[in-house]
Amino acid sequence: MTLLADDRVTGRGPLDDAIEQLAEACHLLGYDAGTQQMLAAPRREVTVSIPLRRDDGTVEVLTGHRVQHNLSRGPAKGGLRYSPHVDLDEVRALAMWMTWKCALMELPYGGAKGGVTIDPSRYSSAELERVTRRYTSEILPVIGPTRDIPAPDIGTDENTMAWMMDTYSVASGYTVLGTVTGKPVSLGGSLGRAGATSLGVAHMALAALRHVGIEPTCSTAAVQGFGKVGRGAARYLADAGVLVHAVSDEHGAVWRPDGLDVPALESHVDRTGSVVGFDGGTPIDNETLLTLDVDVLVPAAVEGVLHAGNAGAVRARVVVEGANGPTTTEADRVLQERGVLVVPDILANAGGVVVSYFEWVQANQAYWWSQAEVEARLADRMTAAWDQVLAEANHLELSLRTAATCLAVRRVAEAHRLRGLYP
Ligand code: NAD
Repeated sequence: MTLLADDRVTGRGPLDDAIEQLAEACHLLGYDAGTQQMLAAPRREVTVSIPLRRDDGTVEVLTGHRVQHNLSRGPAKGGLRYSPHVDLDEVRALAMWMTWKCALMELPYGGAKGGVTIDPSRYSSAELERVTRRYTSEILPVIGPTRDIPAPDIGTDENTMAWMMDTYSVASGYTVLGTVTGKPVSLGGSLGRAGATSLGVAHMALAALRHVGIEPTCSTAAVQGFGKVGRGAARYLADAGVLVHAVSDEHGAVWRPDGLDVPALESHVDRTGSVVGFDGGTPIDNETLLTLDVDVLVPAAVEGVLHAGNAGAVRARVVVEGANGPTTTEADRVLQERGVLVVPDILANAGGVVVSYFEWVQANQAYWWSQAEVEARLADRMTAAWDQVLAEANHLELSLRTAATCLAVRRVAEAHRLRGLYP
């Protein structure tokens, strides 16, 4: 079991939260136990050994997983994570959330997730390439543009996707651009994919602020995590006139009540690899960032950071989940009781998979769209999903998370019903 912040408090992990969210949705939708079981069960799980020859000649064996949670609405879609915390239960939870996210955004996909238990910061680029190629070749029979399409997540990036695409293409004998998304633009990636998750997070943060009656240009934010999602979210929020009071990464946090200079902070991170040491702010600890007096808090790092032990101290009016599963079920209850509006992960960070879908469509058609076109289509999808979730939440008096999960689960259950059981 992964040991993240929530486990230290309750002994639970992200899979417990995912299963509980599904159970609540099934209860509200009136589904029987068999339907719930079908929706909960992963369709396919592959665990592989990855023998790696290190640069110094020694050999070590890593473990990787690919979980395809559901394939009823189309090929599976989901990221690949490189982290020392990866275990099968975490990958199962993330795969289930991908199923709901794709259904919520009306994408023709099921959900999947992959992970390798590795701390990428301890390996050279050449070693990571060997890990990626071996992992890809081990899971080759279950991936591909019509089966399961990986994308970047924590610890992986467009280079990882280029190596995966190349490994798959070499085995196929021709170039298969639709194998993965989040590729470099020069290799069939989509314009606008790199910033898509962050831009979607910013769209949702602005919509949520307006919904609770706060004008974004008079608002403040704190962002946890300064990686692919958090960094862009901070930038887009600052561009929209939000004062970004604080950001953090795994090494520490910086705070400036007048608003951080986000471009200067990005230059600092490019130079040093961390937000720590940025002289345009005061150092604070990571836990303090979560309880700052800001209008919007964007957890964009890992699971379980808002838990029973700290949810009561959150002072933000709105939480926008850039990360997957940052709020435990108990914390969710506390935040709801305290009137904090939580925009759930399957909506808030769906911009990434939406533009991954656009990338896959473009790759399959070999016809490329402009960045403006991608961003306009992304904005339309995010707004439509926000409107649908809000309408469902208002109609049934549900939290945004429960409303979003119910909408998504209903769509997946409908696909199951229409396809029937085979044999
Ligand atoms: P990343 O590896 O690029 O960045 C992760 C960031 O979080 C890093 O800055 C790291 O230092 C920081 N971090 C880790 N532990 C932390 C902690 N305890 N406190 C503060 N900071 C911490 O990963 P990413 O792609 O930005 O993914 C972040 C989250 O967003 C994950 O939950 C991921 O599943 C989710 N997500 C990512 C995408 C995507 O397109 N990359 C899409 C949807 C959801």
